[in-house]
Amino acid sequence: MLSGGVGGAKLVEGFYNILNKTRLNVICNTGDDLELFGLYISPDLDTVMYTLAGLVDEEKGWGVRDDTFRCLKALSEFYKKESWFNIGDCDLATHIFRTELLTKGYSLTEATRILCENLGLDRVNLQPMSDDPVRTMVMVDSGVYLSFQEYFVKRKCRDPVLNVIYKGSDEAKPGGHVLESIARADIIIISPSNPIASIGPILSVKGIREQLKKADCIRVAVTPIIQGAPLKGPADKFMAGLGFEVSALGVAEYYKGLADVFILDERDAYLKNKIEELGYKVHVTDTVMNSLKDKIRLSRFILKAVGLKES
Ligand code: GDP
Repeated sequence: MLSGGVGGAKLVEGFYNILNKTRLNVICNTGDDLELFGLYISPDLDTVMYTLAGLVDEEKGWGVRDDTFRCLKALSEFYKKESWFNIGDCDLATHIFRTELLTKGYSLTEATRILCENLGLDRVNLQPMSDDPVRTMVMVDSGVYLSFQEYFVKRKCRDPVLNVIYKGSDEAKPGGHVLESIARADIIIISPSNPIASIGPILSVKGIREQLKKADCIRVAVTPIIQGAPLKGPADKFMAGLGFEVSALGVAEYYKGLADVFILDERDAYLKNKIEELGYKVHVTDTVMNSLKDKIRLSRFILKAVGLKES
């Protein structure tokens, strides 16, 4: 599965709950990673990890449930300008541990594996798209770029999105097991994540798009856009900014050539023919995941739609 944070993690959790013997590989966006207070923070990896470990703050979709923010408050006395990023006390423990592993010379792939093992996640191979830095940069004015977190958290998505670049993607290599995971997959699923800010960075890493294109398994994309809008987050601004229609059709256009099957929300059933004209096989269902039951139902629907058995 290819995943960003909140939306992607929901479907990942669905599959995690129905697969027993099958190895679930999750290739996760690291384009919104950042360094603050000397710590390496990887928001999407953490959201997936916390979700699978049952630790996530379900209301927000990220961070640790019932976390406190005392350390951040204390840090704001020292770092007057850097306390805009919300880091809870338990969350901080993850960043301290990961940063120490990276400082000792472990790669981000290895650090992620160790974190997952410590949280008891032994049935998932959660991996960063790359061990090298790739940063999603949002152009908000002619020649003015913000990092994704500055755009999203600090500026609360208030700027127009004029362009998006993935800084470092030309030199970055795919994470340790990424290409192999894609090549050996029985099914590849592009989760309902922000196409441009979460899946785009993964596709920008040299070799990943090519490997996806030539994969001979079933490739499925799940829409994150329902009734012309994202359920959460700025995917609409990113899609419009890059010239894509803000609709499931726009998503299907963005993933053309990378997926064969498109999971369309039943509220957008009228777009089925148009998406089929792009070459997809389209399946229509309720894609909104508000509960674990919804996540499992959608995961089962996808397996059934492509003729794969749960195992
Ligand atoms: P982020 O990295 O935390 O922004 O999270 P993602 O990129 O993984 O997810 C954001 C996208 O998930 C948004 O475009 C949402 O519309 C989509 N999303 C969130 N929840 C759901 C859901 O229950 N169903 C569907 N189909 N999309 C969802």
